[in-house]
Order: sequence, then structure tokens, then C-alpha cells
Amino acid sequence: MNPLIKSALGKNDPALSEYKSKQMLKAYGIPVTRETLVQSPGEAAAAAQALGYPVVVKACSPRLMHKSEAGAVAVGIQDEAALLQAYDRILAAVDQPLEGMLIQEMVKGSRELVVGLTRDAQFGPCVMLGLGGVLTEVLNDTAFRVAPFDENEALDMMAELRSKKMLDHFRGQAPADRQTLAQALVAVGRMALENEAIAEIDINPLIIDPQGRLIAVDALIVLRTPDRK
Ligand code: ADP
Ligand code: MG
Repeated sequence: MNPLIKSALGKNDPALSEYKSKQMLKAYGIPVTRETLVQSPGEAAAAAQALGYPVVVKACSPRLMHKSEAGAVAVGIQDEAALLQAYDRILAAVDQPLEGMLIQEMVKGSRELVVGLTRDAQFGPCVMLGLGGVLTEVLNDTAFRVAPFDENEALDMMAELRSKKMLDHFRGQAPADRQTLAQALVAVGRMALENEAIAEIDINPLIIDPQGRLIAVDALIVLRTPDRK
């Protein structure tokens, strides 16, 4: 069994934290933010210095699945003073034990995608591609495939989106790296097929940066625990 999943199940965690979810994505070749998990304000400052400002600060825990709602996310942190302030504010807002505080690069780009995975009782693992950000629910613009499928199928998923033009040249930003997106969609299906204990995957958002590169800035892998089949 994958060691990250094994250790989470051993602790009866309902999910992998953002940090561990992204380590798993990375192992499957999906690009994620550069980030460091820290345990103190001093470590946070050193990590931010190494990454380069601006940075993002988030509380990290397998039991923290909706971080913004919990006041656990601070984006666009420009300097050390703001970093230390955000660190304290987030610690005060989140009253539960943390794996640590996550310091990550702030990714530029106004185009946000969502990649998801659910298990259908009849069809098995289904991969979803949709538009991210505030418009996700409003536009309901999504494409689904039952895993496994190949990169050509993944390219077809992109073509099915009504808002597919967003993947082309867009407001002075480069076209999205469709090949990497196709590989990511295939990989998410493979993750579920190879890891029975994964119930759901939610990459939200996957940002397309101005150069067209894709970066997962948030990820959540929900596990199938005994009380949650
Ligand atoms: P939540 O658990 O609430 O979904 P996220 O990690 O997705 O928390 O953060 C909330 C929002 O903040 C994201 O939807 C995204 O718009 C923005 N965001 C988070 N991390 C980054 C980052 N590293 N770079 C740029 N924007 C980010
Ligand atoms: Mg999110």
C-alpha cells in the first residue's frame, strides 16, 4: 500500500492533508506548488525567504477540508511582517491540532480549473474536469470519463467544455499546456485504480499561469475509512 495512505489509515485520518495529497499527486507526475511544511514562525520566515515573496500561508491538517471557511488561508503575503501576522491569525482561527503550517509559492494566473475523482457504484472511478473558481457551480461546465482512459480521451474532455476557449490564448496569457493537463487527468484515474483506499480526489484549483503552465495549488484526497465507505 502507498506509505502516505497507509500511515493516514493507521491514524484513522479521514483524508490526506493538503501537503500529503500534493506529495501523492507529485509522485504521479502532476505539477504542484513549491511548498514547505513548518512548525514555527521562525521556520515559516526561513521557508518564505527561500521560496521568495509573495507566498501563501495555510493551516495544514487531514481534518481541515475547507480551509478558507475556517480562516486558514492567507494569500498574497508580501513580506515577513505580514507573514508572521498571518501565521498568528491562522493559528488563532483554527482550534485543532495541525500537521504544521504550509508555506507555498503564490501562483499567478486568473484561469482556474478543477480536477476531481469520485467512485461510482456502477462505473467505478470517474474523473471530472471543470472550471474552477467562483464560477464552478454557476456554469456547471464539466466533462467526465470513467477510468482508465488515455491521453486522447483526456484531450476530448477538454474539447467538451463550453468554456474551452479559456485553454487557448486568453487575455494576453499563453495557451494552457494541454499535454500536461491530459497526463494529469489520466494520472488521477490511475491513482484511484491503484489505491483502493482513495474515495475522492479534489484538485481545486488547478491554476493555469500566464505562461500556460498548470499548477495544483490545492488538493484533497479523501480516504475510505470504515465508517465512510
Ligand atoms: P480551500 O480549502 O478553502 O479550498 P485553497 O487552498 O483552495 O483552500 O485556497 C483558497 C483559494 O485561494 C483558492 O481557490 C485559490 O484561489 C487561492 N489560492 C490558494 N493557494 C494559492 C496559491 N498557492 N497561489 C495562488 N492562489 C492560491
Ligand atoms: Mg481549494
